[in-house]
Parts: sequence; C-alpha cells; structure tokens
Amino acid sequence: QVRVRFAPSPTGNLHVGGARTALFNWLYARKNGGKFILRIEDTDTARSTRASEEAMIRDLKWLGLDWDEGPDVGGGCGPYRQSERTNIYKAQVEKLVAAGKAYPCFCTDEELDAMKKEAEEKKLPPIYRGKWATATPEEVDEAKAKGLPYCYRFRVPPNQEIRISDLIRGEVAWNTDTLGDFVVLRSNGMPVYNFCVAVDDALMGITHVLRAEEHLPNTLRQMLIYQALGFAVPQFGHVSLILAPDKSKLSKRHGATSVGEFRNQGYLAPAMLNFLSLLGWNDGTEQEIFTVDELTSKFSLERITKSAAVFDKVKLGWMNGQHLRSLPEEESTSMAVSHLVASGLLASAGSAFAAAAVKLVSKSMELVTDCEPEVRKLLGYPLAETLASADAKAVVDDAFAEVAGAVVAAFENGELTAALAKGHDGYKAWVNGVGKAQKRKGKRLFMPMRIALTGRMAGPDVGEQLEVLSKLASPAEVSEQGA
Ligand code: GLU
Repeated sequence: QVRVRFAPSPTGNLHVGGARTALFNWLYARKNGGKFILRIEDTDTARSTRASEEAMIRDLKWLGLDWDEGPDVGGGCGPYRQSERTNIYKAQVEKLVAAGKAYPCFCTDEELDAMKKEAEEKKLPPIYRGKWATATPEEVDEAKAKGLPYCYRFRVPPNQEIRISDLIRGEVAWNTDTLGDFVVLRSNGMPVYNFCVAVDDALMGITHVLRAEEHLPNTLRQMLIYQALGFAVPQFGHVSLILAPDKSKLSKRHGATSVGEFRNQGYLAPAMLNFLSLLGWNDGTEQEIFTVDELTSKFSLERITKSAAVFDKVKLGWMNGQHLRSLPEEESTSMAVSHLVASGLLASAGSAFAAAAVKLVSKSMELVTDCEPEVRKLLGYPLAETLASADAKAVVDDAFAEVAGAVVAAFENGELTAALAKGHDGYKAWVNGVGKAQKRKGKRLFMPMRIALTGRMAGPDVGEQLEVLSKLASPAEVSEQGA
C-alpha cells in the first residue's frame, strides 16, 4: 500500500512550495488508494511554534487536502510530532551504538573549531577527524566518569557509493568520503533533523518520499541511516523548485507566497489546487482547467517535470476566474454579494440590485473581490473626465449634444423607463427610435448613447447596465461609504 507524507517544519506559514509538495503527495495517495500522513517536523525548538502548526493545518484543510494520520487525527504510527518522539529516536541511537555504528564523542567546541581550521588550511573537506571515532571503551568510560558532555556520531562507512534512483531526477550517487561522521544525538539529548526524518519515514512505513529538491543532499545521510538500521528504503522523488517569472527563486518580494495570503485575497481553493498541480506536472495534453476529481484520477509521478516551474500570477488569476464561473450561480453570487456588503459598498445583501449587478459584472471577474470595483463603476458617472479624454474626443462629434439631449428628454418624459420596463427588446426598440430620429446608426449612435447614459466609453452592454440600475430601489441600498 502506498504511504506518503507531508512533513512541514512549523516555522512560518504554509507557502505555495509546501502546498504543492503536500498536493502531489495527497494526489498520489488518493489516486492509488494509499494513505497520506501529516508529520510535524518541530525538532528546531527555537523556531517551531504551535501557532504555525495550527495555521498550516488550517491552510491545508482550506485547500481540501485531508490526511489519514496526523497529530490531530492520530493513527497507528504516532505520535506525529517529532518533538514527541524523542524516546523513539534515542532507542534507535542505542541500536546504532550497540552495533558499533555510532559512538560517543566528547570533543569540545574549541577542539571542533581547531579541526575545522586545520582542514581549511590543508584544503581538506571539513569533516570530523576527531579521536573519538577510534577511542577504546576505557577512554570512553573515563570521559563519562569525569562527567564530560558528549554527543553521538554516526560512523560513516569509508569510500562507499550511495545511489538512489530518483523518481524525478533519475540516478543520483554520492561517495561517503564527502561526509564526515555526523552527529545523530546532540549532547543536550536532542536528535538531529536528518536522523529523525529517516527514522520516522522508516517507522511510519513511508513508501514514497516526495519532497522539494532542496532536500536532495539530505538523502545521503538518510540513506546511511536506513542501511545502518536495516530499514527498507523508500522511493525518493525530488520535485523541482518554483521560480518567479524573472527566474529567480520565488520569494516575498514577488508578492504573496503563502496560501493564507491567497485565501485572504479571495482566491478559491479549487483554483489554487489546479494552479499548484500544474507547477511541475501536466497530464500530457493542453488541458489547463482541472477539477480536483480530475486531478486525482489523472495524476502520475511519471509526468512530474524535472525543470523548474514558473509561478505565473496572471495565469492564477485567469484560472480563478474560470473556477469562479464554474460554480453554481447562487454560490458565486452570494460570495460576491457578501463581499460587496463587507467592503461597505452595499448596505445589505438581499436586494434585487445586488444580485443583478453581480450577474452583470461576473463575466469580467477573476477574483470574487473584483466585483467591488466593477459595481462601483456601474454606480459612478464620470462624464466630465470621460469627455475630457482624448479617446472621447475621437468619437464625440458636434452632434453629441443632440443625442445626449434626446437621452435626457427620454429620461424626463418617462419614455426610457417605460422602454426598460419592457426588458431588453423594449430598450432596443427605444434606441432604434432615437437612431432614426437623429439619423444615426452604428458607432456614431452607440458611442454618444453609451457616454450619455453611463458616463463611460466602455463597460457591459448599456441596456443591461440600465436594467440593473433600474433595480436600485432607493439610494439607501448603496451604503454612504460606497456612494
Ligand atoms: N521538514 C522539511 C520541510 O519543511 C521536509 C523534509 C522532508 O520532506 O523530508 O521542508
């Protein structure tokens, strides 16, 4: 059975890179009827916080990535927080020590610094060459009797080739001579990160380790630990980096990078998942819009790409618009109307105007939040600015005043209201009437009409705009702040 895990370090927010790793693991588990495990890697006690763990869990849940085992739901391989597994790690260190594969090291920081300096001067790799690798049991007992602090180091076998067949990167090999005997348990009793990861993946029965490329170098240490403890080795897949459009590593300076920020900006979870899935994966066709169910059935490790993925926010916006329009209309309308009320533009949610206005502007929305500036445009009448613009000068001729005059007259004598009451056909008949009377048609008729009626040169169909505005029962519907 496939068993995969997402193993975040709770030292901040859930970033898009982490979310993508979680998604790939989740899809692989769901596609193969396997288990998806959440493990919290909080060995770095100085930087890990419970608040960060909680925020990550909230964001993963928002995305809809649910886990079968984890700190909050339990499971047969718990605990699922590394900080609660210290005894498990210590027991594994003892096994290594008993087999002569790890040893106590009493070197002081000064001694280690001196060794490092010497290696630098002699241009040797900065690896441990201390005397404790070869100390006799008597020497060790003597040091212990003196009460000297000590850590445990892993005895790295010399000149061995360690090889993995990475599911994404292909063959990767290391020589163990590049690595010194590394610490597995610190003198303060805390196990080191790579040791915990290897022990956990083994004891949790992880079959596939899918994680970010930056963890590839860790695999050497982890492989040595699997070997030394006689654990079955999982398959590894190291997923490429996510780059910004300028091809630098995606970071804060490129704008939002955490899932929570995108949620707050109004992005939809299914759109986020769709977008993240295509950061380094495709189904081999041109298809770009996928539902979560489609992703689950189509996902495969074979189609994860080796090259870095580019985070294109323009595409994310477009994708969100597509997902927004695929929602049932009541759902997207109610989200947008709630936003109009929350943003202070509308006084209440229940009006006919609110629903009609959202429907009118929904075609041009990418984010739910886009409805606010769009509806604001509908309510505004920037005639003076429009007429002053060069674009307007090109379409507004001397006879503009005549068309505008006809519009004003129709307003005043109720003709326009009566026409609108007959729906779109009524409006059209009225426009045609004005065209005949003014001896104008096409752009020469519609542009002056549009400008006179809406104050703008562009926007949704003028008749539709007027129909929506006619639903505005009273000015109180638009809150003071919005008006
Ligand atoms: N805790 C690591 C991280 O947050 C993940 C390590 C792993 O997946 O092996 O980047």
